[in-house]
Amino acid sequence: MDLSQNVKAVRERIAAAAAAAGRRPEEVALCAATKTQANESIRAAIAAGIQVCGENRVQELSAHLESNAYVGARVHFIGRLQTNKVRQVVGRVDLIQSVDSPRLLQAVEAQAGKLGVVQDILLEVNIAGEESKGGCAPADLPWLAEEAQKAAHIRLRGLMAIPPISTVPGANRKYFSEIRNLFVDIMKKMSDNQSVIDCLSMGMSADFEDAIAEGATLVRVGTALFGPRPPMGTPR
Ligand SMILES: *Cc1c(COP(=O)(O)O)cnc(C)c1O
Repeated sequence: MDLSQNVKAVRERIAAAAAAAGRRPEEVALCAATKTQANESIRAAIAAGIQVCGENRVQELSAHLESNAYVGARVHFIGRLQTNKVRQVVGRVDLIQSVDSPRLLQAVEAQAGKLGVVQDILLEVNIAGEESKGGCAPADLPWLAEEAQKAAHIRLRGLMAIPPISTVPGANRKYFSEIRNLFVDIMKKMSDNQSVIDCLSMGMSADFEDAIAEGATLVRVGTALFGPRPPMGTPR
């Protein structure tokens, strides 16, 4: 597997999908989903031009931070976050993509306040109502967004969503379109405030082209960059 070849190929696919949608390739950022990757492959990805790393697990995040594996890239937290672990994430990442409850919002606000920082966040939406997944219900989004706006140490930047795993090409396009509509609503509502709502994080290896067609500004790609991951729980 040639990582720099993969980075190039994914960037070309992003550019082609953007062009097909009448968008500029620079409008779509690439976040490398680095779960299960070793320090060396993260460093190799950054050397190959990756500018944003997305981490799922607090434990992996901490280990990679301690090893300085992310030097040269920004870091996003993209996994489920428990309130008792916010201390290990707030102020240590550029963006927390997965805030999905008032409790978590409060915990992030409290920790950011304690550190005297402003934490950028996305609100995660559970667009298909899947019980196994994080994310708030679409109906809860407006008031959650208002809560985020009121929090002095939080800056709401946009939305994130993970639609169902699909094997049928194009199957998630309707979800991406729904998320985009929610995003546009939030953008309009919040536009008189100081904050910039500019990030719509959706699309993974199997479906990022469809996400870009529906307006994604950030795609999170793992497998297409690093190859298949070992199954969960496999010792490394
Ligand atoms: C693993 C992961 C991705 C990337 O998944 P691939 O299918 O490997 O591209 C994107 N987003 C989140 C939240 C993930 O956990």
